[in-house]
Amino acid sequence: MAHRTSLREWFGAILACCPGDCPLCGTRTSGGLLCPDCELEVCRSLFAMTPRCVCCALVLDRHGDCPDCRARQPHYDRVIVAFDYAFPGTLLIHQLKRQRRLLVARVLSSLLAHQVQAGFPALANDTMLLPVPASRNSLRERGFSPAAEIARHLGHALRLPCRTDVLFRHHESAPQKQQGRQQRLAGALGLYGCSRAVAGCDVALVDDVMTTGATLDGIAAVVRQAGARSVCGFVVARTPLRGRTD
Ligand SMILES: [Zn+2]
Ligand SMILES: [Zn+2]
Repeated sequence: MAHRTSLREWFGAILACCPGDCPLCGTRTSGGLLCPDCELEVCRSLFAMTPRCVCCALVLDRHGDCPDCRARQPHYDRVIVAFDYAFPGTLLIHQLKRQRRLLVARVLSSLLAHQVQAGFPALANDTMLLPVPASRNSLRERGFSPAAEIARHLGHALRLPCRTDVLFRHHESAPQKQQGRQQRLAGALGLYGCSRAVAGCDVALVDDVMTTGATLDGIAAVVRQAGARSVCGFVVARTPLRGRTD
């Protein structure tokens, strides 16, 4: 295991030094990360002066009310996001999940790492990263788990342990895209399980996209039940209310 980790770190260090192309505009960049202009475009929504929920990072309307946190009391302490799910950030998610461009996971985790490092309060330096488990169907379809790829790169960037053997799914459910808000809330509860490895630990759940937050919340509840001391969510893209279909 240690040998494999050191090989991955070595490979990651080589990649970071190699020139590559910005995945959005093709400009030559270091390690194939985004060029500064594209990074600004992708993360622009985070810098807008619009209010954002301090717990789940949802962009709020002018009344400052968060419908996702109102729908349920979240079991996570806070969520940190890299950008809102909107163009052109959606292209990066598409490249990773649909086009299977695995190196884009490193680009996304790099954006997320910046936000985590800028977050307050600072993370405990032994925070355990746990990717949200993919369904068997999506694993079969893609051949990899986007959340696990992002979490692995994030662990490398933040020097935090990433564990893929702690969370698991009990059974399969209908694809979430076909479910409404209430179905998602009900479906997330009881779907996931967690080993006792989290007892007494600070934990961060890692995922690619967060819509209503029901999945993240269902897992956070399970992780807390297993004894975690604190639970955060690290999510690449947060879907704004106006971008949802349910
Ligand atoms: Zn670019
Ligand atoms: Zn909220």
